[in-house]
Amino acid sequence: MTFDAEGVNQQVPCPSCGSERTVTWMFDVGPDELECRDCGYRSDAASLRDLQRDAGDVLEGDGSEGLPAPTKVRSLKA
Ligand SMILES: [Zn+2]
Repeated sequence: MTFDAEGVNQQVPCPSCGSERTVTWMFDVGPDELECRDCGYRSDAASLRDLQRDAGDVLEGDGSEGLPAPTKVRSLKA
């Protein structure tokens, strides 16, 4: 599996720190991604964070449902 990506400096201002020391990654498929050499900003990091947040919501929902059960069992026995 290979990534046909080419990083070029198009002097696009970083949306995070405003620096123009950025690298634009041009992909054959998908949107271009911006990487900042000064602050480490990456445009694809935001989309990755969204994916992780969505997964976290599902995990939190499953966990909260299981929590009350042991407490009820303990109170019935006491
Ligand atoms: Zn930056």
